[in-house]
Amino acid sequence: MAIQWFPGHMNKARKDVAERLKDIDVVIELLDARLPASSANPMLARMAKGKPRLMILNKQDLADPAITEQWLAWYRAKTQTEALGMDAGERAPAQRLIAACRALAPTRSGLEKPLRVLICGIPNVGKSTLINSMSSRKIAKTGNMPGVTKNEQRIILEDDFELYDTPGMLWPKIEVEEGGYNLAASGAVGRNAMDEEEVALELLKYLLVHYRADLAARYKLDEETLEGMQDWQALELIGKRRGAVLSGGRINMQKAAEIVLTDFRDGQTGRITLERPDEWAAWEKRAKAI
Ligand code: GDP
Repeated sequence: MAIQWFPGHMNKARKDVAERLKDIDVVIELLDARLPASSANPMLARMAKGKPRLMILNKQDLADPAITEQWLAWYRAKTQTEALGMDAGERAPAQRLIAACRALAPTRSGLEKPLRVLICGIPNVGKSTLINSMSSRKIAKTGNMPGVTKNEQRIILEDDFELYDTPGMLWPKIEVEEGGYNLAASGAVGRNAMDEEEVALELLKYLLVHYRADLAARYKLDEETLEGMQDWQALELIGKRRGAVLSGGRINMQKAAEIVLTDFRDGQTGRITLERPDEWAAWEKRAKAI
């Protein structure tokens, strides 16, 4: 796939997280509810082995609510990991988050043994937004604390509850091809690092199967016309509809791709989730067989 995946500074982020994990009680991983499995960091899963974990499916306002329910149930049943849905509109996220973490590490409380929680996630998953909404309270920049990296933040959510923020992190190797495309579609990867047309075509391929009605409504197309259409034909049609036309009448596929990706990211195409638990299991199985 045409994505330059692992920029150099991610290596530093990985080392910082590994160091910080040593005295952490609970690890929160912020996932994108539109792509929960693709946005879960396999490297973090290995590094945090043995620690209680909480998965937060963020941006749930943009995701397909029925599929979010499937994922929350899947996490609890299949991985015995606590999972919560969340979005930026939530009024008091700190309360739910604190309660869930305390339940995962009941022995840690009091000023002597504050609960130390690390929050991780891919770039653009909404970590800063969530943290800002929680920290009308004290935010401690921890640059001057021994053993704490400069750009790491420590947020005191309650006197005995400390949240450590980490830089957005990717991982070196994408195992599941669909996962790479979904991450790229979500905006986790810088635009210079991917071929937008390729990513938009993969996105359209999925939408044509699972969200044809949303696609038709967004671009004022006839749902029946979309049936049986190839991804590139749909991209052309959307380009035409939106005036992405070059001189001579050819469709500007790059522009059309940008439109499709931006609409998806902003939730304009509808509440869409790009993977379901059973689909992910099949993709993973195929990737392992290769
Ligand atoms: P970070 O890179 O993980 O810190 O991500 P940001 O907090 O900067 O968020 C990335 C983008 O997603 C911003 O445009 C946010 O406004 C948006 N965003 C964050 N959380 C949500 C959410 O729950 N719902 C929606 N619709 N957008 C969100």
